[in-house]
Amino acid sequence: MSKMLKAKNPVRASLKRSTKSAALAPKKRATPKKATKQNPIKQKPSAHVPKPAAKLPKRDPRNAKRSGVQKPSKSKPKPKKSATELAISPARITELLRRLDATYPSVKCALLHKSAWELLVATILSAQCTDERVNKVTPNLFAKYPTVKHFAALNPEELESDIRSTGFFRNKSKSVVGAAKKLIEDFNGEVPADMDQLLSLPGVARKTANVVLGSWFGIAEGLVVDTHVYRISRRLELTTSDTPQKIEQDLMQIIPRDKWIDFAHQLIWHGRKLCVARNPKCMDCPLENICHAADKTWSTVDGHS
Ligand code: SF4
Repeated sequence: MSKMLKAKNPVRASLKRSTKSAALAPKKRATPKKATKQNPIKQKPSAHVPKPAAKLPKRDPRNAKRSGVQKPSKSKPKPKKSATELAISPARITELLRRLDATYPSVKCALLHKSAWELLVATILSAQCTDERVNKVTPNLFAKYPTVKHFAALNPEELESDIRSTGFFRNKSKSVVGAAKKLIEDFNGEVPADMDQLLSLPGVARKTANVVLGSWFGIAEGLVVDTHVYRISRRLELTTSDTPQKIEQDLMQIIPRDKWIDFAHQLIWHGRKLCVARNPKCMDCPLENICHAADKTWSTVDGHS
């Protein structure tokens, strides 16, 4: 009876067949279950699993300022700046220039002149002589010899009596007449606006060339270093050099180029009025509390702060 029931039941028979064929079929590899995305909002935070730490942005020292990330402080203390470094620090130079601008606004060359040639002659005559003395000589001189051609036609001896009071008149006569001849021969009678060409003229060195380029042509090729600029730039510790050439180079390193012309004029005026060679008038000086010159006549400061 049971045999008959078993054979007749189609459901049972098909089940038996499928189990049999499943056993005979080759086994399939189990594929890993794909991770299902879970809604992070719905997901409950587990009490046991610690939250991963938020990732910090990588530190780039170049971006430290922008990102506000502070560099770790170095344990080494910063070395103290020397007096020389403080003396030529940008902050002090800026303050110095500000005070000079306020005290000597729109200063000009003190030598009287109406042309580049007259300024060249006046500057040659001003060597080892005051501008006041030169200004007494040049009006008559230029009235007597109005052009470069007139000077070029002279023998140096003919000029000596006209410029005697400026001192060193023999050498100065040779320089002025020699410069005039050279200008006629090589520069069509015109004063060149070029440092090298100016230096090719007899009796013209860098100081004279800088005066002509700066005051007549408005060209800042260098800095005029006369006796006042020499003395005051050393008193103000802007340089420790002791030749005009080196002092000019030192000043060119620390004074902005657009101030070269005015700065030299301002120091020249300061040297005439207050920072005179002997007994400078420090009590009246607008630079007093940033000046530490050894020969100050009055002081409110000990050293660089
Ligand atoms: S304080 Fe005296 S030494 Fe210094 S710049 Fe002024 S006048 Fe010259």
